[in-house]
Amino acid sequence: MRRFLVAGNWKMHGSLEMTAELISGISRSVLEMASLSEQRELAYDILVCPPAVYLQHAVSAAQSQPVAIGAQNVNAHDSGAYTGEIALPMLAELGCDYVLLGHSERRELFLETDVQIADKFAACVAEPQRITPVLCVGETLDERKQGATEQVVGRQLDAVLNQVGIQQMKNAVIAYEPVWAIGTGETASPEQAQEVHAFIRARLAEHDAEIAASMRILYGGSVKADNAELLFAQPDIDGGLIGGAALKVESFVGICRAAQKLASQA
Ligand code: PEP
Repeated sequence: MRRFLVAGNWKMHGSLEMTAELISGISRSVLEMASLSEQRELAYDILVCPPAVYLQHAVSAAQSQPVAIGAQNVNAHDSGAYTGEIALPMLAELGCDYVLLGHSERRELFLETDVQIADKFAACVAEPQRITPVLCVGETLDERKQGATEQVVGRQLDAVLNQVGIQQMKNAVIAYEPVWAIGTGETASPEQAQEVHAFIRARLAEHDAEIAASMRILYGGSVKADNAELLFAQPDIDGGLIGGAALKVESFVGICRAAQKLASQA
């Protein structure tokens, strides 16, 4: 059984104060919500990804709390002359559990290529695995209009699969984020999202059905408290990657509520 993951991408937002307040506020609320639920315990996982400069503070704030901490990016090299970059061993040393890879803003604004993203992914999953990558894939509006969604998402996925192989995928998370739905307030319908999630899982299953069935595939793109339940109820959607709504305790916890509720019905 796959456990839901509700992940927050804070992007370039926040402060020291907000980092501590958001993590403690989320923790308090979700634990209270869980204690009142049928299961009496948190039935899903929570991740927040603050800006790199706040990661250490976030890891301290999340100690003994039900919140994992992730970075928003990493360099594929373990060390070296790469001014301004951050290496995996540094993130692992801080206590980060996850890292976002290939977010559409990194692809579009910082021109990250499929190959660079695959290199970063390979560094994350190299033995012994140090950090869980969250591989973001998704098509632009033009690509969707041209009917190229599966071609684009398939290409982004294959770039990683072909480099690391299916066995190395099993400890990763995939996030399907249609670019046209990110930060726009326009969400993919549950059916649209499910269709692409099913495509991703089928693509993985061509390599290994068991691994495909076990992998978490998150949906991202204007997820809010009022649409999360319908999205997460789809058979191949295992939680969300949340941008704007991850910056306030109430809105993020509202999305967590959907995960707790659906987990109790499973
Ligand atoms: C994101 O940045 O990954 C994202 C999904 O943003 P938003 O929820 O604001 O659309």
